[in-house]
Amino acid sequence: MRHLALSIPLYFLLSTFYFLLFMNVPLLDLIAQHNTIRDEVMAAVNGVFERQQFIMGAEVEAFEREAAEYLNARHAIGCASGSDALLLALMALDIKPGDEVITTAYTFFATTSAITRLGAKPIYIDIDPDDFNIDTRLIEAAITPRTRAIMPIHLYGQCAGMDEILEIARRHNLAVVEDAAQAIGAQYRGRRAGTMGEIGCFSFFPSKNLGGAGDGGLMTAEDDALAERLRILRVHGMEPKYYHQVVGINSRLDALQAAVLRVKLRHLDQWTEGRIVNAARYQTLFAEAGLAEVKPPFVHTDCRHIFHQYTIRCSRRDELRAHLLKSGIGCEVYYPVPLHMQECFEFLGYRKGELPETEKAALECLSLPIYAELTEQQQRYVVDTIAGFFRTVR
Ligand SMILES: *Cc1c(COP(=O)(O)O)cnc(C)c1O
Repeated sequence: MRHLALSIPLYFLLSTFYFLLFMNVPLLDLIAQHNTIRDEVMAAVNGVFERQQFIMGAEVEAFEREAAEYLNARHAIGCASGSDALLLALMALDIKPGDEVITTAYTFFATTSAITRLGAKPIYIDIDPDDFNIDTRLIEAAITPRTRAIMPIHLYGQCAGMDEILEIARRHNLAVVEDAAQAIGAQYRGRRAGTMGEIGCFSFFPSKNLGGAGDGGLMTAEDDALAERLRILRVHGMEPKYYHQVVGINSRLDALQAAVLRVKLRHLDQWTEGRIVNAARYQTLFAEAGLAEVKPPFVHTDCRHIFHQYTIRCSRRDELRAHLLKSGIGCEVYYPVPLHMQECFEFLGYRKGELPETEKAALECLSLPIYAELTEQQQRYVVDTIAGFFRTVR
């Protein structure tokens, strides 16, 4: 009896010790996800091997149909990556050297490289410090006779202010290309991310909310002629076979990727719901912790934020990041160097200090684990570890 009475507290002590020693919260756990869909994915991959059609074909067409239906888009066109989707979108709009494209510098590299690759010039607008997206109040002043398009990014999975952007674009006769690489399934006042502008661009990089088993991308369009141009440009500008009216690129979606993506698309909404639930739980846990040093993400109530990233703003970001990594918690900075401060874009002539909110966000943001399979225990550990850090440095 005495043994039992002693062993119970001992058990709790040891299990807490074990938990603290070995608690590991990766930034993203794709193995946990794969464990839930292994049989479906392997059957789909096996089917492609049995048919031996690896480039385009029925599997890709089926995925394009299903993606168009999911996104509520008239056309969905697969391609080799999200980066290519952005490049092809600007090619289809005939963006040329000397043209200007309005966008932000607080994004992944590919949004800007698509512009500069065509000899056009990115015109950077500062971001809104709440949602990290383009500050729509600053767009109109940046429009010149050379402006051709606006390229908003729906960063972290929350839509930019599309009503304002579309209204400005309409008034100035500009095209809108949405970088929806992080926003598949996100909604803006009832509309789906990637279907509001002329072209929407998506990425299936493995870590995206809908991730393939390698690279992949997709473009959406409402206009039939524009969709046809995108279809031709992704196959070397070839139509019909071996006849070329325009110079396109080789950017096809693999049948293997399409097969995997078809399986995962069926689970996407459930995974997204998991992320949304986890984000709400973080909000509660952070509110309970009462940390003045941490600002949880701002969520527009009339939008569906799909939490590709759960990104906090905080003081002492780099120290906190090191502390979290040491405690077995994955976290990452998206993005530490804004694009106007990248060495390869020095020729654009931007200087430090020109985009104050962008530069401030790059110093303060930190993305925490948010994937659907994350447990409440893991989330508590993340918030407790952050609270512990600020207690020691206060
Ligand atoms: C991932 C991403 C891209 C590029 O997609 P890839 O498929 O990796 O080429 C472009 N823009 C944003 C905002 C992204 O997050």
